[in-house]
Amino acid sequence: MSGERYVFDFAEGSAADRARLGGKGAGLAEMTRLGLPVPPGFTITTAACIRYQQTGDFPLGLLDQVWAALERLEARLGRRLGDARDPLLVSVRSGAPVSMPGMMDTVLNLGLNPAAVEGLARVTGDRRFAFDSYRRFIQMFGNVVLHIEHDRFEQLLAARRLEAGAATDAAIPAPQLEALVADYLALVAERTGKAFPQDPFQQLVMAIRAVFDSWNNPRAVVYRKLRRIPDDLGTAVNVQAMVFGNRGPTSATGVLFTRNPNTGEPGLYGEYLTNAQGEDVVAGLRTPAPIGELAQELPAAYADLERAASALEAHYRDMQDVEFTIEEGRLWVLQTRTGKRTARAAVRIAVDLAREGVIDRAEAVRRQDPEQLRTLLYRQLDPAASLTVLATGLPASPGAAGGAVVFDADEAERRGNAGERVLLVRPETTPDDIHGIVAAQGVLTSHGGMTSHAAIVARGMGKPAVTGCEAVVIDLEARQFTVAGRPELGAFREGTFLTIDGASGRVILGEVPTVEPDLAPEFLTLLEWADGMKRLTVEANADTPEDAQKAREFGATGIGLCRTEHMFMGQDRLPVMQEMILAESPEERTAALERLLPMQEEDFYGILAAMDGYPVTIRLLDPPLHEFLPDAQETERELAQALARGDEPAVARLEAVLRRTRALAEFNPMLGFRGVRLGVVYPEIYAMQARAIFQAQARLLAEGRHPVVEVMIPLVAVPAELERLAGVVAETCRAVEAEHNRSLPYRLGTMIEVPRAALVADRLAEYATFFSFGTNDLTQTTFGFSRDDAEGKFLPAYIAEHILPDNPFITLDQEGVGQLITLAVARGRSRRPDLKVGICGEHGGDPASIAFCHRSGLDYVSCSPYRVPIARLAAAQAALAG
Ligand code: PEP
Ligand code: MG
Repeated sequence: MSGERYVFDFAEGSAADRARLGGKGAGLAEMTRLGLPVPPGFTITTAACIRYQQTGDFPLGLLDQVWAALERLEARLGRRLGDARDPLLVSVRSGAPVSMPGMMDTVLNLGLNPAAVEGLARVTGDRRFAFDSYRRFIQMFGNVVLHIEHDRFEQLLAARRLEAGAATDAAIPAPQLEALVADYLALVAERTGKAFPQDPFQQLVMAIRAVFDSWNNPRAVVYRKLRRIPDDLGTAVNVQAMVFGNRGPTSATGVLFTRNPNTGEPGLYGEYLTNAQGEDVVAGLRTPAPIGELAQELPAAYADLERAASALEAHYRDMQDVEFTIEEGRLWVLQTRTGKRTARAAVRIAVDLAREGVIDRAEAVRRQDPEQLRTLLYRQLDPAASLTVLATGLPASPGAAGGAVVFDADEAERRGNAGERVLLVRPETTPDDIHGIVAAQGVLTSHGGMTSHAAIVARGMGKPAVTGCEAVVIDLEARQFTVAGRPELGAFREGTFLTIDGASGRVILGEVPTVEPDLAPEFLTLLEWADGMKRLTVEANADTPEDAQKAREFGATGIGLCRTEHMFMGQDRLPVMQEMILAESPEERTAALERLLPMQEEDFYGILAAMDGYPVTIRLLDPPLHEFLPDAQETERELAQALARGDEPAVARLEAVLRRTRALAEFNPMLGFRGVRLGVVYPEIYAMQARAIFQAQARLLAEGRHPVVEVMIPLVAVPAELERLAGVVAETCRAVEAEHNRSLPYRLGTMIEVPRAALVADRLAEYATFFSFGTNDLTQTTFGFSRDDAEGKFLPAYIAEHILPDNPFITLDQEGVGQLITLAVARGRSRRPDLKVGICGEHGGDPASIAFCHRSGLDYVSCSPYRVPIARLAAAQAALAG
């Protein structure tokens, strides 16, 4: 037969066929190739799904190919679909090229009908099992293919359970299950107006169609949008022989990770349920047992599982997430994929694998997601805080999070989007709750294990989660929860503030203070490896000796931006600063500056000492002076009070303040009297700062320390500005050198924060030995956006409407601002080949922007101390990417 092939046996494919066979199909094929015990079957390609989506019908030849593959499968197993003696049963599962867990549909036990179920009962000698399989099939098929609400089946099930006096579904005896099958068939007839399809071939065709259709169900569509997965990938369909984990005490089903996905520790980690089917584990309705217990319960199968796990890890060179079933003592591997993991585990696993020789160090560095690693730098609960622990559940996803309790995803989304911190609290979550998890600070569920939906999704998003916290008893209707065994606490209503600790599983009443994180040794190792691979130097933006210390601890090799304005904000300094600003004459101003001088000198001394041996780039005063003056309205109020009191000195002082505040008021402070413009008009301010720097440097040198001083002028647009202020700094330096009788080497540099500076970069390089791109301002001035106005008013619309791809204040606008950077680098270096160039805007800590800086030939990036480890890693990844 000619025409496109849409159907492939598992034995024919491999991992390379992911686009065509989907992730699941390619995985099954690859495992089959590896010789693992995989139940046989075949895959219908994504191309068939795409054709189906385009035309609404199966492509020509598809069904013939399905029947041929089914015949091969039947021949292989010696069992036939629908056979009344020993029926073959199959599962029909979706599987897209990109993992979309739980988003699309699955039908299990397909092939059962009144004759086959009797056959199954006979060959297994287990009537209960046969009818339980049949009722599960009708229920799933009824829900997924015939669109009958799940609840309707559950009600009938509950009624039969009650009638049998059974505590659980597993305890319902065969006669009630047979009766239940009749109930289900009647329900289907009532809801669809047709008898349940009992022809197994018709069942298969309908199930394939339903899986194709599920590609476009609302939750799959939302998920794709959220993850930016293209809509035209399509899903493959896997038809596979069923194996049963619910055939008695030597059968089981479970999920395992080949290493601990929370900590990265080696050794199998997971959960299983004896005598159960896969959906029982994922649904989180029964709480499963830890995998270690299987070693006692079914030792031979456990040993097989360990062997399979290590074969999979060796083959895929990464930690795997494996679904398995044990059927009467025999292990079957159903699925494997690269396991999702916490940031901590990602680091530990990569470092361990590199040490084990499975991957190399570059691969270990390349595999990290710098954004995810941020969670390692998360603050943790303050151990000194006194905690009101209400309950403890499973530590499903680390980090501490607090928020007002909400009980449904829609409410979480509504309140979260309104800016409120909320905690989503549910009995368990399903794929329909994704939007609520996105909007919440964290998730707390009363049921479900470490591999429940809530746990997996939260870990993927890097959000704290506590699952299986059975003591939290949720009453969704009353919108409140109580704590089991603690009646004295009463009920907690929606809106109660809770804190969860995803690292310990604790659920705490109220808001808890947090502290600095501890960096794991593996993380430090990984960062050391990264340092050996990167070209960019990573410096920090730090204004205090404490920040400088933190920056050193996080591995910064310098301070790329020390903003000096914060130094004037303290209680002892602000009044002197205000005096300086209010001064009516140069003499008055100089007097105030002389009082500020020793304070500044101490600041610089502390920072240069903390960074001994590494460069410290000190930026001279930048913000408009009115920022240091009190609010005009506030002053007016005080003035009125002083007048009423008849306090004349106060009146005179407040009038002066008000006069000056009004004089300094600006229409557009962002573009106003700030930066080097202050230095031009009041050179004595910059001279004082320069003196403080050089005096601190002289003292440190005298003490045998190694201060590396860089003085930076902000907001320069005109070369003459820089020439003028470079002169002021040089003159001050010479004076201090003479006073201390020692040479005080320093570099002078400029920030590039306005387009004009970038354009005249060659001229600026005549005076500057380094450039630092202040991309916060450069983004503002290039776009003509004032950041606060943009982010508050129109930028969200720009991003939603795809006018801009990202917020340019977070991820560097390479198309525009980036062009100015490359141009300025080239022009600057044309004049001064050894010009040192870096970036100190917030983009200096953003991985994509760091990659751009690497490609553009910058020498360093500077970012907040907390982002330094991320930047070191991103810089290494940029270098590895070439
Ligand atoms: C900048 O503009 O990018 C910068 C670092 O300066 P500031 O944020 O202090 O304006
Ligand atoms: Mg700036």
